[in-house]
Amino acid sequence: MTVLVKPKALTDTKVREFQMLIDGKWGNAAEGRTLERVAPGHGVTVSRYQAATKADAERAIAAARKAFDDGPWPRMTASERSLILLKAADMIAARADELAYLDCIESGKPISQAKGELGGAADIWRYAAALARDLHGESYNTLGDGTLGVVLREAIGVVSIITPWNFPFLIVSQKLPFALAAGCTTVVKPSELTSGSTLVLGEILEAAGVPAGVVNIISGTGPDVGAIMTSHPDVDMISFTGSTGVGKLTMTNAAQTLKKVSLELGGKNPQIVFPDANLDDFIDAAVFGAYFNAGECCNAGSRLIVHKEIAQDVIARIAAMSAKVKVGDPLDPQTQVGAIITPQHLEKIVGYVSAASGKGATVSHGGAALDLGSGQFMSPTILSSVTPDMAVAREEVFGPVLSVLTFETTDEAIRLANSIDYGLSAGVWSRDFDTCLTVGRKVRAGTVWMNTFMDGASELPFGGYRQSGLGRELGRHAVEDYTETKTLNMHIGGRTGWWMPRG
Ligand code: NAD
Repeated sequence: MTVLVKPKALTDTKVREFQMLIDGKWGNAAEGRTLERVAPGHGVTVSRYQAATKADAERAIAAARKAFDDGPWPRMTASERSLILLKAADMIAARADELAYLDCIESGKPISQAKGELGGAADIWRYAAALARDLHGESYNTLGDGTLGVVLREAIGVVSIITPWNFPFLIVSQKLPFALAAGCTTVVKPSELTSGSTLVLGEILEAAGVPAGVVNIISGTGPDVGAIMTSHPDVDMISFTGSTGVGKLTMTNAAQTLKKVSLELGGKNPQIVFPDANLDDFIDAAVFGAYFNAGECCNAGSRLIVHKEIAQDVIARIAAMSAKVKVGDPLDPQTQVGAIITPQHLEKIVGYVSAASGKGATVSHGGAALDLGSGQFMSPTILSSVTPDMAVAREEVFGPVLSVLTFETTDEAIRLANSIDYGLSAGVWSRDFDTCLTVGRKVRAGTVWMNTFMDGASELPFGGYRQSGLGRELGRHAVEDYTETKTLNMHIGGRTGWWMPRG
């Protein structure tokens, strides 16, 4: 059982048409092709984006290059850049409902959640604005008489920003304001499935006073434009969020010209629960962690590692709570789990579930696609008796599917947690401080939550170990990621320590 919220027909049936922003001008793709976006919850076309080609991407890169080499943005004071970022943050907050609607309708995520993400995004823009003014290098007057060493932080240059479909506005906000704060110029490519809110961001940034060419936003597919954005010699850095497979491709492309890369990739995150945990808190966090954003979440707590002693009870309680989760109409304010991004992705999720049950896993709740009259939906699903070798224990299903594994000793729990290629995040649940810290230190993941799950803040760095990524976003060093370090080594009053004998 699941509580179903049938999608109501859309009241606004107009297809929203988007253009692209290159060098301060809005226009169509050179070849005139477009991409249609069908709303995952409603099954009707809601947006039409330009399908950029290599030529459009090259134009955008050239505009960003010119704006970096000759334009005002990198030469402004940090205070001036910061004020523009703050203005952008206010305008994002003012247009939050419109942006949240676009993210909801194009991705299928629940509207209440989309609104929450917009609030978080505005906060990140404000945080980046504050960091802009604190970007500084170092100086050394201790290197010997008459010597002064100065270490500068200089904007790295042109940054390609490529984002996925699952948190469209939030993820571009984890990258772009920090790149701008550092004085970089950018070419941004949102996912071809959810480009709307990022394109509206272009209007906001223009109105906030970001000069032409500093932020260029193109829409299109990965193979058409992502490939050139990751290999073009005029691009200095790539900031990519998406799948581990495309992340590897990005790094390979970047290697040809040795670009700096920042990669935020996939996760298969363990929630480890001990018998002494506060189970009321945990059960709620387990359900939230597994089904938030329909499980289409890099941080999903999709791998439950539960102590054998409490496993049956925990599974029964998670199943009982799963039955109360409201699944359906992304636009209904009560909905907790929205639609699945595409019909093909739904098929993939169902395929994972049937492969697991074919290998001996038990479907303890859900397990099937849901027919709600339009769009595509998946039932919140619990797979128990999962073994570590199964695909559902190792791979990102990217759907509302929780795989349950069991342990007997703390070492076994840690071994299981670390037994896969990913290392994005983890949860540890115990009332014992030693247990939490021991496991927290030994789990190889970029974020470990203790007695909570998936909380975030602009101040806290986020990123993955191993194949979950390279580098960190957010936190106080986020602006520095978009800089190069330059050393100025100076002698005052003439050179000392001659190399050739003086004669
Ligand atoms: P994806 O890798 O398919 O696509 C991501 C972006 O890369 C899209 O804009 C896409 O058009 C582009 N792209 C595709 N092929 C490309 C190529 N050859 N060259 C350059 N760009 C290319 O990922 P997705 O399906 O959009 O998103 C889901 C994935 O993102 C999941 O694996 C998820 O875990 C990951 N993700 C990670 C984080 C994080 O912070 N670690 C956050 C959100 C999503």
